[in-house]
Amino acid sequence: MFKLTPLLLALLYGFVLYRFSAWRTAKELDARSTELADPRLKRLTDKMASALDLERIRVNIYEIDPVNGLAAPDGRIFITRGFFRKYQQGEVSAEELASVIAHELGHVALGHSRRRMIDFSGQNAIRLLLVGILGRLLPGIGIWIANAVTSLLAAKLSRQDEYEADAYAAALLAKAGIGIAPQKSLFRKLEALTQSRAGAVPAWLMSHPKTDERIAALDALEARWGTS
Ligand SMILES: [Zn+2]
Repeated sequence: MFKLTPLLLALLYGFVLYRFSAWRTAKELDARSTELADPRLKRLTDKMASALDLERIRVNIYEIDPVNGLAAPDGRIFITRGFFRKYQQGEVSAEELASVIAHELGHVALGHSRRRMIDFSGQNAIRLLLVGILGRLLPGIGIWIANAVTSLLAAKLSRQDEYEADAYAAALLAKAGIGIAPQKSLFRKLEALTQSRAGAVPAWLMSHPKTDERIAALDALEARWGTS
């Protein structure tokens, strides 16, 4: 029983942290978002909605500048004001923005957005536990190993999520008649933006795997679908 206490405390800490961050995220998003209303984009989200047998897909604008899309733990989809502005200025097409919405829908449908929060607090619990064990077994270096193992695990999980969300988006875009091409062209555009303006890396790219690898994964999907 005594040995279990640190584990229980770590789990409890993780749970409390999860509830708190979910609550804080929802509050922040409520305060700084409005429903996205754009006729051209609505035509595309309506196509995706009917492919999914939904009445409609609600998308919200989150009033911040960094170029990003996100899926809240409660299942709502957000596009940042910064991303929407790129669309209004003609730098990003309606189809390309729809591909971001499809990707975020994938995170919701596959349970990632909810799990990510749990991952985050679960990571802290695992980290604390490993630090406790390894720190005692290997004084000095144990903590370092514990941190490295936890970060590796987290990176691997989130990369997997991104590829899954991309595949979901590709299937949805294909079924809705929008196609996969905008998904790929957006990746390239964001990448170009990164190179032309140092320090202006779109947040949506930073939190995701390498562009080349994502496009290659989509090509592989297309090849598989093409032959089946
Ligand atoms: Zn993603």
